[in-house]
Amino acid sequence: MKLYNTLSKKKEEFVPLEEGKVRMYVCGPTVYNFIHIGNARPMIVFDTVRRYFEYKGYDVNYVSNFTDVDDKIIKKALEEGVSSDEISKRYIAECKKDMEGMNVKPATTHPLATEEIGGMIEMIRTLIEKGYAYEKNGTVYFRTRQFKEYGKLSHKNLDDLRSGERSLLVTGEDEKEDPLDFVLWKPKKEGEPSWESPWSDGRPGWHIECSEMSKKYLGEQIDIHAGGEDLVFPHHENEIAQSEAANGKEFAKYWLHNAFLNIDNRKMSKSLGNFRTVREISDQYDLQVLRFFMLSAHYRSPLNFSADLMEASKNGLERIVNAADHLKFLMENAQTEAMTEEETKAGSNIETFVKAFESAMEDDFNTADAVAAVFDLVKFVNTTANAGSSKEYLKKLQNRLVSLTDVLGLIVERQEELLDKDIEELIEQRQAARKAKDFARADAIRDELLGKGIILKDTREGVQWKRA
Ligand code: AMP
Ligand code: ZN
Repeated sequence: MKLYNTLSKKKEEFVPLEEGKVRMYVCGPTVYNFIHIGNARPMIVFDTVRRYFEYKGYDVNYVSNFTDVDDKIIKKALEEGVSSDEISKRYIAECKKDMEGMNVKPATTHPLATEEIGGMIEMIRTLIEKGYAYEKNGTVYFRTRQFKEYGKLSHKNLDDLRSGERSLLVTGEDEKEDPLDFVLWKPKKEGEPSWESPWSDGRPGWHIECSEMSKKYLGEQIDIHAGGEDLVFPHHENEIAQSEAANGKEFAKYWLHNAFLNIDNRKMSKSLGNFRTVREISDQYDLQVLRFFMLSAHYRSPLNFSADLMEASKNGLERIVNAADHLKFLMENAQTEAMTEEETKAGSNIETFVKAFESAMEDDFNTADAVAAVFDLVKFVNTTANAGSSKEYLKKLQNRLVSLTDVLGLIVERQEELLDKDIEELIEQRQAARKAKDFARADAIRDELLGKGIILKDTREGVQWKRA
């Protein structure tokens, strides 16, 4: 299996640190709002990477954090007049719902930065002891020039970085020994969440969070560290400096970065007003369509989001689902059990599609080509499976189709549709639970309906519902 390593700028053969195992860390979102479709890209592509490793028989320990202490969260909390904790808990729960809709598997562990502060303080202490960090007026900085390999991931040269140093200086940071030094710990400002530390009551810098959480849940050395390409510098460069300086070992062997998702050929940003949340998309499409859309391109190619491409993805996914449906129907009505000689011969063709799928995935997870192999298999199903096919042959086709689409995280077996009267019955049960103040039950019913594509809206006139 070959993967492109940002560190070496080359495709390299994957060799795990430990036979049969993959230790993988993916930087997660900062939780101050619903996630947007850009955030969904790393979630979907690296979930697919994980699924492919699992398909190959690897045991994958997949860690992805939630950054739940950050300026943006504090700002949002102030705007709403609630605690930062309330904001982050709310949007973690919403993010998990979106992940479920996109069929992104929960990580082995989803650590929260605020629950790992003790470990971060320990790591900062080690860095100070080893001469890699220093304190000034309650703030702790990483001494960048002390880490000789700084710049190795982003392929930046320290001298070039220094020549642009003016722009790196943030007001109030003139006390730094060097403009390239970055914050490990900062004192709190009035009204901010804070933790006690040997240096000040305050909070950790963003970069140290990932170094510590990766170490705690995966060990000092990991196989793969991943995230969007905007994280290469400074976030991942700084993580490498911190982890390697503190642990004295190479941190991650392979660094994987997805390219950006644009919208209507423009960068997606709040100021341009072209910002789309995953939740908005789910009003219009099954989130499986969004997942299929993301996988239609290679993860290192920029991808443009547009209504046309979403429609094309919807149709493409439908073709696969229809083939799976057709196979199911034929299987239920098949007249013969065992494969004929002719079917056995045709069966060997199926393996060529499987091989094509695997070689695409082995080549730095080329999901675009993998999807093309699935379409070839679908075409083969449509031309060779019919009312006269044996059950064994149909089952073989179905097994292959399901195992490949499962690697892509696509659910091709249609869920039974809920009837209107069943939905209304569940809504009544939810209302009863709310009346009895059993909010956990009420939420569970709402989520169950959401899982089946039914969206509830509480209005003054009562509960309204619609199909996604
Ligand atoms: P953030 O919450 O900004 O830290 O982002 C969480 C993850 O989403 C990171 O891996 C980012 O690199 C990634 N990300 C943010 N915006 C985009 C985008 N437009 N396209 C692709 N990835 C993105
Ligand atoms: Zn990170």
